[in-house]
Amino acid sequence: METAQVKKLKNFINGEWKEPSTEKSTKVYNPANSETLAEVPLSNARDVKAAAAAAVSAQKKWALVPAPQRAEVLYKTGLIMKEKKEHLARLLTMENGKVIEEARGEVQEGIDMAFYMAGEGRRLFGQTTPSELKDKFAMSVRAPVGVVGIITPWNFPIAIATWKSFPAIVAGNAVIWKPATETPLMAFELAGILHEAGLPEGVLNVVFGSGSTVGEAMIEEDVIRVISFTGSNEVGRNIAGKCGSRLKKVSLEMGGKNGVIVMDDADLSLAAEGILWSAFGTSGQRCTACSRVMVHENVKKELEDRLVQAAAKLTIGNGLDESIKVGPIINRGGLEKIQNYVDIGESEGAKLLTGGSVMDKGALKNGCYFAPTIFTDVTPGMRIAREEIFGPVVSLISVKNFEEAVDINNQVEFGLSSSIFTKDVNKVFAAQRDLDTGIVYINAGTTGAEIHLPFGGTKGTGNGHRDSGVAALDVFTEWKAVYVDFSGRLQRAQIDVEEGS
Ligand code: NDP
Repeated sequence: METAQVKKLKNFINGEWKEPSTEKSTKVYNPANSETLAEVPLSNARDVKAAAAAAVSAQKKWALVPAPQRAEVLYKTGLIMKEKKEHLARLLTMENGKVIEEARGEVQEGIDMAFYMAGEGRRLFGQTTPSELKDKFAMSVRAPVGVVGIITPWNFPIAIATWKSFPAIVAGNAVIWKPATETPLMAFELAGILHEAGLPEGVLNVVFGSGSTVGEAMIEEDVIRVISFTGSNEVGRNIAGKCGSRLKKVSLEMGGKNGVIVMDDADLSLAAEGILWSAFGTSGQRCTACSRVMVHENVKKELEDRLVQAAAKLTIGNGLDESIKVGPIINRGGLEKIQNYVDIGESEGAKLLTGGSVMDKGALKNGCYFAPTIFTDVTPGMRIAREEIFGPVVSLISVKNFEEAVDINNQVEFGLSSSIFTKDVNKVFAAQRDLDTGIVYINAGTTGAEIHLPFGGTKGTGNGHRDSGVAALDVFTEWKAVYVDFSGRLQRAQIDVEEGS
Protein backbone atom coordinates (compact mmCIF):
# COMPACT_ATOMS: atom_id res chain seq x y z
CA MET A 1 0.00 0.00 0.00
CA GLU A 2 1.40 3.42 -0.87
CA THR A 3 2.73 5.73 1.80
CA ALA A 4 2.08 9.42 1.76
CA GLN A 5 4.32 11.98 0.12
CA VAL A 6 3.66 15.11 2.09
CA LYS A 7 2.60 17.95 -0.18
CA LYS A 8 2.89 21.58 0.90
CA LEU A 9 0.00 23.24 -0.84
CA LYS A 10 -0.35 26.77 -2.13
CA ASN A 11 -3.40 28.67 -3.32
CA PHE A 12 -4.25 28.66 -7.01
CA ILE A 13 -4.83 32.24 -8.11
CA ASN A 14 -4.81 33.65 -11.62
CA GLY A 15 -3.50 30.41 -13.07
CA GLU A 16 -0.54 30.11 -10.69
CA TRP A 17 0.24 28.40 -7.41
CA LYS A 18 0.70 31.30 -5.02
CA GLU A 19 2.05 31.47 -1.48
CA PRO A 20 -0.74 32.61 0.84
CA SER A 21 -0.32 35.92 2.59
CA THR A 22 -0.07 34.17 5.97
CA GLU A 23 2.47 31.73 7.36
CA LYS A 24 -0.26 29.72 9.05
CA SER A 25 -0.96 26.19 7.91
CA THR A 26 -2.39 22.94 9.17
CA LYS A 27 -1.69 19.29 8.49
CA VAL A 28 -3.94 16.89 6.63
CA TYR A 29 -4.05 13.32 7.91
CA ASN A 30 -5.04 10.02 6.37
CA PRO A 31 -7.94 8.88 8.59
CA ALA A 32 -7.03 5.24 7.91
CA ASN A 33 -3.67 5.42 9.70
CA SER A 34 -3.01 9.02 10.83
CA GLU A 35 -0.18 9.44 8.33
CA THR A 36 0.47 13.07 7.35
CA LEU A 37 -0.54 13.68 3.73
CA ALA A 38 -0.25 17.39 3.23
CA GLU A 39 0.22 20.77 4.76
CA VAL A 40 -2.50 23.16 3.76
CA PRO A 41 -2.35 26.94 4.12
CA LEU A 42 -4.75 28.76 6.37
CA SER A 43 -5.24 31.73 4.09
CA ASN A 44 -7.03 34.91 4.99
CA ALA A 45 -9.15 37.72 3.55
CA ARG A 46 -6.19 39.17 1.60
CA ASP A 47 -5.95 35.94 -0.38
CA VAL A 48 -9.67 36.06 -1.10
CA LYS A 49 -9.20 39.65 -2.34
CA ALA A 50 -6.40 38.54 -4.65
CA ALA A 51 -8.57 35.72 -6.00
CA ALA A 52 -11.48 38.12 -6.44
CA ALA A 53 -9.37 40.57 -8.45
CA ALA A 54 -8.15 37.77 -10.72
CA ALA A 55 -11.66 36.39 -11.11
CA VAL A 56 -13.23 39.74 -12.02
CA SER A 57 -10.81 40.41 -14.81
CA ALA A 58 -10.85 36.81 -16.10
CA GLN A 59 -14.64 36.61 -16.08
CA LYS A 60 -15.10 39.58 -18.40
CA LYS A 61 -13.14 37.77 -21.14
CA TRP A 62 -14.48 34.30 -20.32
CA ALA A 63 -18.09 35.45 -20.69
CA LEU A 64 -17.31 36.53 -24.28
CA VAL A 65 -15.92 33.12 -25.25
CA PRO A 66 -18.74 31.28 -27.08
CA ALA A 67 -20.31 28.71 -24.75
CA PRO A 68 -19.46 25.74 -27.04
CA GLN A 69 -15.80 26.76 -26.78
CA ARG A 70 -16.03 27.10 -23.01
CA ALA A 71 -17.50 23.62 -23.06
CA GLU A 72 -14.48 22.28 -24.97
CA VAL A 73 -12.37 22.99 -21.89
CA LEU A 74 -14.71 20.91 -19.75
CA TYR A 75 -14.66 18.14 -22.32
CA LYS A 76 -10.85 18.06 -22.17
CA THR A 77 -11.09 18.18 -18.38
CA GLY A 78 -13.25 15.05 -18.49
CA LEU A 79 -10.70 13.30 -20.71
CA ILE A 80 -7.80 14.16 -18.39
CA MET A 81 -9.80 13.09 -15.34
CA LYS A 82 -10.47 9.78 -17.10
CA GLU A 83 -6.77 9.26 -17.72
CA LYS A 84 -5.98 10.11 -14.09
CA LYS A 85 -8.95 8.28 -12.61
CA GLU A 86 -6.98 5.70 -10.65
CA HIS A 87 -4.49 8.26 -9.34
CA LEU A 88 -7.32 10.56 -8.23
CA ALA A 89 -9.27 7.71 -6.65
CA ARG A 90 -6.29 6.50 -4.61
CA LEU A 91 -5.54 9.99 -3.38
CA LEU A 92 -9.20 10.47 -2.54
CA THR A 93 -9.21 7.30 -0.47
CA MET A 94 -6.11 8.50 1.34
CA GLU A 95 -7.43 11.94 2.25
CA ASN A 96 -11.07 11.04 2.86
CA GLY A 97 -10.98 7.37 3.87
CA LYS A 98 -13.76 6.05 1.60
CA VAL A 99 -13.01 2.64 0.12
CA ILE A 100 -11.29 2.59 -3.25
CA GLU A 101 -14.32 1.26 -5.15
CA GLU A 102 -16.39 4.19 -3.91
CA ALA A 103 -13.55 6.62 -4.58
CA ARG A 104 -13.47 5.43 -8.19
CA GLY A 105 -17.22 5.99 -8.31
CA GLU A 106 -16.86 9.51 -6.96
CA VAL A 107 -14.19 10.41 -9.52
CA GLN A 108 -16.43 8.94 -12.22
CA GLU A 109 -19.18 11.27 -11.06
CA GLY A 110 -16.84 14.19 -11.74
CA ILE A 111 -15.97 12.81 -15.17
CA ASP A 112 -19.66 12.37 -15.98
CA MET A 113 -20.32 15.94 -14.89
CA ALA A 114 -17.52 17.25 -17.11
CA PHE A 115 -19.00 15.58 -20.20
CA TYR A 116 -22.56 16.47 -19.26
CA MET A 117 -21.79 20.15 -18.71
CA ALA A 118 -19.66 20.16 -21.85
CA GLY A 119 -22.85 19.19 -23.70
CA GLU A 120 -24.66 22.02 -21.95
CA GLY A 121 -22.34 24.46 -23.74
CA ARG A 122 -24.25 23.68 -26.92
CA ARG A 123 -27.61 24.06 -25.23
CA LEU A 124 -27.84 26.66 -22.44
CA PHE A 125 -31.41 26.98 -23.63
CA GLY A 126 -33.45 30.07 -23.12
CA GLN A 127 -36.96 30.67 -24.42
CA THR A 128 -38.32 32.38 -27.48
CA THR A 129 -41.86 33.59 -27.21
CA PRO A 130 -44.17 35.79 -29.29
CA SER A 131 -44.35 39.48 -28.55
CA GLU A 132 -47.77 41.07 -28.05
CA LEU A 133 -46.77 43.67 -30.65
CA LYS A 134 -46.35 43.43 -34.42
CA ASP A 135 -42.83 43.27 -35.84
CA LYS A 136 -41.31 42.60 -32.49
CA PHE A 137 -39.37 39.56 -31.26
CA ALA A 138 -38.99 38.38 -27.66
CA MET A 139 -36.63 35.92 -26.03
CA SER A 140 -34.86 35.16 -22.79
CA VAL A 141 -31.25 34.10 -22.44
CA ARG A 142 -29.11 32.85 -19.58
CA ALA A 143 -26.43 35.37 -18.65
CA PRO A 144 -23.56 34.54 -16.29
CA VAL A 145 -23.83 36.01 -12.81
CA GLY A 146 -20.16 37.03 -12.76
CA VAL A 147 -17.89 35.80 -9.98
CA VAL A 148 -19.22 32.90 -7.92
CA GLY A 149 -17.98 31.43 -4.65
CA ILE A 150 -18.21 27.73 -3.92
CA ILE A 151 -17.69 26.17 -0.50
CA THR A 152 -17.48 22.39 -0.36
CA PRO A 153 -17.40 19.67 2.32
CA TRP A 154 -14.90 16.85 2.89
CA ASN A 155 -17.21 13.91 2.27
CA PHE A 156 -17.34 14.23 -1.56
CA PRO A 157 -14.32 16.43 -2.15
CA ILE A 158 -14.17 16.06 -5.93
CA ALA A 159 -17.73 15.21 -6.99
CA ILE A 160 -19.40 18.13 -5.23
CA ALA A 161 -16.74 20.51 -6.52
CA THR A 162 -17.52 19.44 -10.08
CA TRP A 163 -21.29 19.69 -9.50
CA LYS A 164 -20.79 23.34 -8.67
CA SER A 165 -17.78 24.58 -10.63
CA PHE A 166 -18.53 22.95 -14.00
CA PRO A 167 -22.00 24.49 -14.49
CA ALA A 168 -20.63 27.81 -13.25
CA ILE A 169 -17.74 27.67 -15.73
CA VAL A 170 -19.78 26.59 -18.75
CA ALA A 171 -22.23 29.41 -18.05
CA GLY A 172 -19.42 31.99 -18.31
CA ASN A 173 -18.65 32.70 -14.66
CA ALA A 174 -15.33 32.80 -12.84
CA VAL A 175 -15.07 30.72 -9.67
CA ILE A 176 -13.45 31.14 -6.28
CA TRP A 177 -13.44 27.79 -4.51
CA LYS A 178 -12.83 27.11 -0.84
CA PRO A 179 -12.50 23.37 -0.34
CA ALA A 180 -12.85 21.73 3.08
CA THR A 181 -9.57 21.93 4.98
CA GLU A 182 -9.79 18.19 5.72
CA THR A 183 -9.58 17.29 2.01
CA PRO A 184 -7.52 19.78 0.00
CA LEU A 185 -5.77 17.28 -2.28
CA MET A 186 -8.71 16.82 -4.63
CA ALA A 187 -8.84 20.62 -5.03
CA PHE A 188 -5.12 20.70 -5.79
CA GLU A 189 -5.60 18.00 -8.43
CA LEU A 190 -8.76 19.42 -10.00
CA ALA A 191 -7.33 22.94 -10.32
CA GLY A 192 -4.27 21.46 -12.05
CA ILE A 193 -6.44 19.43 -14.43
CA LEU A 194 -8.62 22.40 -15.41
CA HIS A 195 -5.47 24.41 -16.04
CA GLU A 196 -4.00 21.61 -18.16
CA ALA A 197 -7.27 21.43 -20.11
CA GLY A 198 -6.82 25.07 -21.10
CA LEU A 199 -9.03 26.97 -18.67
CA PRO A 200 -7.81 30.58 -18.90
CA GLU A 201 -6.04 31.98 -15.87
CA GLY A 202 -8.30 33.43 -13.22
CA VAL A 203 -11.44 31.53 -14.27
CA LEU A 204 -10.94 29.06 -11.41
CA ASN A 205 -9.20 30.14 -8.23
CA VAL A 206 -8.70 28.00 -5.13
CA VAL A 207 -8.18 29.55 -1.73
CA PHE A 208 -7.38 27.10 1.05
CA GLY A 209 -8.25 27.94 4.63
CA SER A 210 -10.83 27.65 7.34
CA GLY A 211 -14.51 28.33 6.79
CA SER A 212 -14.56 30.90 9.54
CA THR A 213 -11.84 32.98 7.84
CA VAL A 214 -11.79 32.25 4.10
CA GLY A 215 -15.47 31.28 3.87
CA GLU A 216 -16.58 34.37 5.76
CA ALA A 217 -14.29 36.57 3.66
CA MET A 218 -15.92 35.18 0.52
CA ILE A 219 -19.35 36.06 1.83
CA GLU A 220 -18.18 39.59 2.61
CA GLU A 221 -16.48 40.06 -0.75
CA ASP A 222 -18.80 42.25 -2.84
CA VAL A 223 -17.69 41.01 -6.25
CA ILE A 224 -18.76 37.46 -5.39
CA ARG A 225 -22.43 37.48 -6.40
CA VAL A 226 -23.32 33.87 -5.56
CA ILE A 227 -22.33 31.48 -2.81
CA SER A 228 -22.98 27.82 -3.53
CA PHE A 229 -22.50 25.81 -0.36
CA THR A 230 -22.70 22.16 0.63
CA GLY A 231 -22.20 21.27 4.25
CA SER A 232 -23.84 21.28 7.64
CA ASN A 233 -27.10 22.98 8.51
CA GLU A 234 -25.57 25.16 11.16
CA VAL A 235 -23.01 26.66 8.78
CA GLY A 236 -25.49 26.82 5.89
CA ARG A 237 -28.02 28.81 7.90
CA ASN A 238 -25.32 31.21 9.00
CA ILE A 239 -24.21 31.70 5.37
CA ALA A 240 -27.80 32.19 4.20
CA GLY A 241 -28.38 34.91 6.80
CA LYS A 242 -25.26 36.81 5.86
CA CYS A 243 -25.84 36.46 2.11
CA GLY A 244 -29.47 37.50 2.55
CA SER A 245 -28.58 40.84 4.08
CA ARG A 246 -26.09 41.43 1.23
CA LEU A 247 -28.64 40.42 -1.44
CA LYS A 248 -26.24 37.73 -2.58
CA LYS A 249 -27.67 34.64 -4.27
CA VAL A 250 -27.10 31.56 -2.16
CA SER A 251 -27.58 27.88 -2.87
CA LEU A 252 -27.51 25.49 0.08
CA GLU A 253 -27.28 21.70 0.09
CA MET A 254 -27.20 20.48 3.67
CA GLY A 255 -27.95 17.55 5.90
CA GLY A 256 -30.29 14.59 5.65
CA LYS A 257 -32.04 12.00 7.81
CA ASN A 258 -32.85 9.63 5.04
CA GLY A 259 -35.36 6.84 5.47
CA VAL A 260 -35.98 3.50 3.80
CA ILE A 261 -39.47 1.97 4.01
CA VAL A 262 -39.68 -1.82 3.90
CA MET A 263 -43.18 -3.17 3.31
CA ASP A 264 -44.24 -6.72 4.13
CA ASP A 265 -44.32 -7.68 0.44
CA ALA A 266 -40.74 -6.52 -0.15
CA ASP A 267 -37.90 -8.66 -1.43
CA LEU A 268 -36.12 -8.73 1.95
CA SER A 269 -32.82 -9.88 0.57
CA LEU A 270 -32.74 -6.90 -1.81
CA ALA A 271 -33.93 -4.56 0.94
CA ALA A 272 -31.18 -5.69 3.32
CA GLU A 273 -28.58 -5.22 0.61
CA GLY A 274 -29.88 -1.75 -0.24
CA ILE A 275 -30.01 -0.67 3.41
CA LEU A 276 -26.52 -1.92 4.14
CA TRP A 277 -25.04 -0.15 1.12
CA SER A 278 -26.80 3.12 1.92
CA ALA A 279 -26.19 3.03 5.67
CA PHE A 280 -22.56 1.92 5.77
CA GLY A 281 -21.15 3.05 2.40
CA THR A 282 -18.69 5.92 2.91
CA SER A 283 -18.97 4.83 6.57
CA GLY A 284 -22.38 6.53 6.73
CA GLN A 285 -20.81 9.92 5.99
CA ARG A 286 -23.06 10.75 3.08
CA CYS A 287 -25.74 13.39 3.12
CA THR A 288 -27.95 10.71 1.54
CA ALA A 289 -26.97 7.93 3.97
CA CYS A 290 -29.83 5.76 5.16
CA SER A 291 -30.14 6.28 8.88
CA ARG A 292 -33.75 5.19 9.47
CA VAL A 293 -35.66 2.13 8.33
CA MET A 294 -39.43 2.11 8.70
CA VAL A 295 -40.08 -1.62 8.57
CA HIS A 296 -43.49 -3.32 8.51
CA GLU A 297 -44.02 -5.16 11.81
CA ASN A 298 -44.68 -8.47 9.98
CA VAL A 299 -41.15 -8.58 8.56
CA LYS A 300 -39.22 -6.69 11.24
CA LYS A 301 -37.60 -9.73 12.86
CA GLU A 302 -36.55 -11.23 9.56
CA LEU A 303 -35.06 -7.96 8.35
CA GLU A 304 -33.20 -7.49 11.65
CA ASP A 305 -31.66 -10.95 11.32
CA ARG A 306 -30.63 -10.39 7.72
CA LEU A 307 -29.06 -7.00 8.49
CA VAL A 308 -27.12 -8.27 11.49
CA GLN A 309 -25.79 -11.26 9.57
CA ALA A 310 -24.77 -9.12 6.62
CA ALA A 311 -23.16 -6.45 8.83
CA ALA A 312 -21.03 -9.13 10.50
CA LYS A 313 -19.49 -9.91 7.10
CA LEU A 314 -18.41 -6.32 6.41
CA THR A 315 -14.65 -5.92 6.41
CA ILE A 316 -13.39 -2.75 8.13
CA GLY A 317 -10.04 -1.11 7.44
CA ASN A 318 -7.90 0.96 5.12
CA GLY A 319 -9.96 1.61 1.99
CA LEU A 320 -6.96 1.17 -0.33
CA ASP A 321 -7.22 -2.56 0.34
CA GLU A 322 -9.68 -3.84 -2.30
CA SER A 323 -11.16 -6.38 0.13
CA ILE A 324 -12.28 -3.69 2.59
CA LYS A 325 -15.95 -2.67 2.54
CA VAL A 326 -16.06 0.03 5.23
CA GLY A 327 -13.32 2.62 5.67
CA PRO A 328 -12.56 5.03 8.50
CA ILE A 329 -14.45 8.06 9.82
CA ILE A 330 -12.95 11.38 8.74
CA ASN A 331 -11.36 12.28 12.10
CA ARG A 332 -11.47 11.77 15.88
CA GLY A 333 -14.08 14.51 16.27
CA GLY A 334 -16.34 12.51 13.97
CA LEU A 335 -15.78 9.35 16.03
CA GLU A 336 -16.71 11.17 19.23
CA LYS A 337 -19.88 12.58 17.68
CA ILE A 338 -20.97 9.11 16.54
CA GLN A 339 -20.17 7.50 19.90
CA ASN A 340 -22.15 10.22 21.61
CA TYR A 341 -25.21 9.45 19.46
CA VAL A 342 -24.89 5.73 20.18
CA ASP A 343 -24.85 6.51 23.91
CA ILE A 344 -27.89 8.75 23.46
CA GLY A 345 -29.69 5.97 21.58
CA GLU A 346 -29.06 3.47 24.37
CA SER A 347 -30.10 5.92 27.05
CA GLU A 348 -33.32 6.64 25.12
CA GLY A 349 -34.19 2.93 25.20
CA ALA A 350 -33.24 1.81 21.69
CA LYS A 351 -31.97 -1.77 21.46
CA LEU A 352 -28.45 -2.15 20.06
CA LEU A 353 -28.32 -5.14 17.71
CA THR A 354 -24.70 -4.83 16.62
CA GLY A 355 -21.74 -2.43 16.67
CA GLY A 356 -21.91 0.65 18.83
CA SER A 357 -18.24 1.29 19.49
CA VAL A 358 -14.94 2.59 18.19
CA MET A 359 -12.65 -0.05 16.65
CA ASP A 360 -9.01 0.52 17.57
CA LYS A 361 -7.39 -2.87 17.90
CA GLY A 362 -4.68 -4.47 15.75
CA ALA A 363 -4.41 -3.02 12.25
CA LEU A 364 -7.06 -0.43 13.09
CA LYS A 365 -5.19 1.07 16.02
CA ASN A 366 -3.90 4.22 14.30
CA GLY A 367 -7.07 5.01 12.36
CA CYS A 368 -10.55 6.38 13.07
CA TYR A 369 -12.86 3.39 12.79
CA PHE A 370 -16.39 2.87 14.06
CA ALA A 371 -18.22 -0.44 13.94
CA PRO A 372 -21.28 -0.58 11.65
CA THR A 373 -24.12 -0.11 14.12
CA ILE A 374 -27.76 -1.21 14.01
CA PHE A 375 -30.42 -0.16 16.50
CA THR A 376 -33.92 -1.56 16.67
CA ASP A 377 -37.07 -0.73 18.66
CA VAL A 378 -36.41 2.90 17.87
CA THR A 379 -39.34 5.29 18.09
CA PRO A 380 -39.75 8.34 15.83
CA GLY A 381 -39.29 10.84 18.65
CA MET A 382 -35.85 9.57 19.71
CA ARG A 383 -32.93 11.81 18.86
CA ILE A 384 -31.21 9.03 16.89
CA ALA A 385 -34.33 8.91 14.71
CA ARG A 386 -34.41 12.66 14.10
CA GLU A 387 -30.88 14.10 14.07
CA GLU A 388 -28.16 13.63 11.48
CA ILE A 389 -25.43 11.37 12.92
CA PHE A 390 -23.12 11.25 9.87
CA GLY A 391 -21.69 7.86 10.71
CA PRO A 392 -22.43 4.14 10.24
CA VAL A 393 -25.53 4.02 12.45
CA VAL A 394 -28.96 2.90 11.29
CA SER A 395 -32.19 2.75 13.31
CA LEU A 396 -35.13 0.39 12.73
CA ILE A 397 -38.60 1.72 13.48
CA SER A 398 -41.53 -0.70 13.43
CA VAL A 399 -44.64 0.42 11.50
CA LYS A 400 -48.11 -1.08 11.04
CA ASN A 401 -48.79 0.12 7.50
CA PHE A 402 -47.69 2.22 4.53
CA GLU A 403 -49.38 5.42 5.70
CA GLU A 404 -47.63 5.30 9.07
CA ALA A 405 -44.27 4.70 7.38
CA VAL A 406 -44.68 7.70 5.06
CA ASP A 407 -45.83 9.86 7.94
CA ILE A 408 -42.77 8.97 10.04
CA ASN A 409 -40.49 9.48 7.06
CA ASN A 410 -41.83 13.00 6.61
CA GLN A 411 -41.71 14.00 10.28
CA VAL A 412 -38.01 14.97 10.35
CA GLU A 413 -36.70 18.44 9.62
CA PHE A 414 -34.71 17.24 6.58
CA GLY A 415 -35.95 16.20 3.14
CA LEU A 416 -33.09 14.89 1.03
CA SER A 417 -33.60 11.26 0.06
CA SER A 418 -36.01 8.41 0.77
CA SER A 419 -36.83 4.97 -0.56
CA ILE A 420 -39.36 2.18 -0.46
CA PHE A 421 -39.06 -1.56 -1.00
CA THR A 422 -42.35 -3.04 -2.16
CA LYS A 423 -43.78 -5.01 -5.08
CA ASP A 424 -47.11 -3.18 -4.94
CA VAL A 425 -47.33 -0.76 -7.87
CA ASN A 426 -49.99 1.30 -6.13
CA LYS A 427 -47.70 1.89 -3.16
CA VAL A 428 -44.82 2.72 -5.52
CA PHE A 429 -46.75 5.57 -7.10
CA ALA A 430 -48.23 6.78 -3.83
CA ALA A 431 -44.74 6.77 -2.29
CA GLN A 432 -43.09 8.79 -5.06
CA ARG A 433 -45.89 11.33 -4.63
CA ASP A 434 -46.10 11.42 -0.84
CA LEU A 435 -42.48 11.12 0.35
CA ASP A 436 -41.43 14.69 1.08
CA THR A 437 -37.85 14.52 -0.15
CA GLY A 438 -35.99 15.86 -3.18
CA ILE A 439 -34.96 12.34 -4.22
CA VAL A 440 -37.06 9.15 -4.05
CA TYR A 441 -35.81 5.64 -4.85
CA ILE A 442 -38.00 2.63 -5.49
CA ASN A 443 -36.54 -0.77 -4.60
CA ALA A 444 -33.08 0.72 -3.99
CA GLY A 445 -31.39 2.36 -1.02
CA THR A 446 -31.23 6.11 -0.42
CA THR A 447 -28.00 6.65 -2.35
CA GLY A 448 -27.11 6.44 -6.02
CA ALA A 449 -27.86 9.80 -7.61
CA GLU A 450 -27.00 10.27 -11.28
CA ILE A 451 -25.52 13.56 -12.40
CA HIS A 452 -28.04 14.47 -15.11
CA LEU A 453 -30.91 14.63 -12.62
CA PRO A 454 -31.42 17.40 -10.07
CA PHE A 455 -29.81 16.73 -6.68
CA GLY A 456 -31.02 18.38 -3.49
CA GLY A 457 -33.67 18.31 -0.85
CA THR A 458 -36.77 19.87 0.60
CA LYS A 459 -37.34 21.49 4.02
CA GLY A 460 -34.20 21.87 6.18
CA THR A 461 -31.94 20.21 3.62
CA GLY A 462 -31.68 23.26 1.43
CA ASN A 463 -33.19 26.46 0.16
CA GLY A 464 -34.81 25.24 -3.03
CA HIS A 465 -31.80 25.15 -5.34
CA ARG A 466 -30.40 22.02 -6.92
CA ASP A 467 -26.92 20.79 -7.81
CA SER A 468 -26.63 18.53 -10.87
CA GLY A 469 -28.87 18.28 -13.90
CA VAL A 470 -29.85 21.34 -15.90
CA ALA A 471 -31.18 22.82 -12.66
CA ALA A 472 -27.58 23.35 -11.57
CA LEU A 473 -27.33 26.21 -14.06
CA ASP A 474 -30.06 28.22 -12.36
CA VAL A 475 -28.07 29.66 -9.48
CA PHE A 476 -25.11 30.51 -11.71
CA THR A 477 -27.14 32.39 -14.32
CA GLU A 478 -29.48 35.34 -14.49
CA TRP A 479 -32.43 35.33 -16.85
CA LYS A 480 -32.18 38.21 -19.26
CA ALA A 481 -35.29 39.15 -21.26
CA VAL A 482 -34.49 40.59 -24.68
CA TYR A 483 -36.99 42.47 -26.90
CA VAL A 484 -36.13 43.22 -30.52
CA ASP A 485 -38.44 45.73 -32.20
CA PHE A 486 -38.09 45.75 -35.99
CA SER A 487 -41.16 47.86 -36.75
CA GLY A 488 -39.20 51.11 -37.13
CA ARG A 489 -41.53 53.00 -34.82
CA LEU A 490 -42.06 53.32 -31.09
CA GLN A 491 -44.44 50.59 -29.95
CA ARG A 492 -45.51 50.77 -26.34
CA ALA A 493 -46.28 47.45 -24.67
CA GLN A 494 -49.78 47.20 -23.16
CA ILE A 495 -50.70 50.55 -24.74
CA ASP A 496 -50.19 50.33 -28.49
CA VAL A 497 -51.77 46.90 -28.95
CA GLU A 498 -54.35 47.20 -31.74
CA GLU A 499 -57.50 45.22 -31.15
CA GLY A 500 -58.00 42.45 -33.67
CA SER A 501 -54.68 43.24 -35.31
P1 NDP B 1 -19.34 21.98 7.42
O1 NDP B 1 -20.57 22.79 7.30
O2 NDP B 1 -18.62 21.97 8.69
O3 NDP B 1 -18.27 22.45 6.32
C1 NDP B 1 -18.60 22.57 4.97
C2 NDP B 1 -17.73 23.65 4.35
O4 NDP B 1 -18.09 24.91 4.92
C3 NDP B 1 -16.25 23.45 4.64
O5 NDP B 1 -15.51 23.87 3.51
C4 NDP B 1 -16.02 24.38 5.81
O6 NDP B 1 -14.69 24.83 5.93
C5 NDP B 1 -16.93 25.54 5.43
N1 NDP B 1 -17.30 26.41 6.54
C6 NDP B 1 -17.27 26.13 7.87
N2 NDP B 1 -17.65 27.23 8.58
C7 NDP B 1 -17.92 28.20 7.68
C8 NDP B 1 -18.34 29.55 7.79
N3 NDP B 1 -18.59 30.11 8.98
N4 NDP B 1 -18.51 30.28 6.67
C9 NDP B 1 -18.29 29.73 5.46
N5 NDP B 1 -17.87 28.46 5.29
C10 NDP B 1 -17.70 27.70 6.38
O7 NDP B 1 -19.76 20.53 6.94
P2 NDP B 1 -18.84 19.24 6.84
O8 NDP B 1 -17.62 19.52 6.05
O9 NDP B 1 -18.69 18.69 8.21
O10 NDP B 1 -19.75 18.27 5.94
C11 NDP B 1 -20.72 17.48 6.48
C12 NDP B 1 -22.10 18.06 6.28
O11 NDP B 1 -22.34 18.30 4.89
C13 NDP B 1 -23.21 17.11 6.71
O12 NDP B 1 -24.18 17.79 7.44
C14 NDP B 1 -23.80 16.62 5.39
O13 NDP B 1 -25.10 16.18 5.47
C15 NDP B 1 -23.62 17.79 4.52
N6 NDP B 1 -23.60 17.40 3.12
C16 NDP B 1 -24.69 17.68 2.34
C17 NDP B 1 -24.77 17.28 1.02
C18 NDP B 1 -25.94 17.67 0.19
O14 NDP B 1 -25.80 17.75 -1.04
N7 NDP B 1 -27.12 17.91 0.74
C19 NDP B 1 -23.69 16.51 0.39
C20 NDP B 1 -22.56 16.28 1.28
C21 NDP B 1 -22.55 16.72 2.60
P3 NDP B 1 -13.60 24.11 6.87
O15 NDP B 1 -14.15 22.78 7.27
O16 NDP B 1 -12.41 24.03 6.02
O17 NDP B 1 -13.42 25.03 8.02
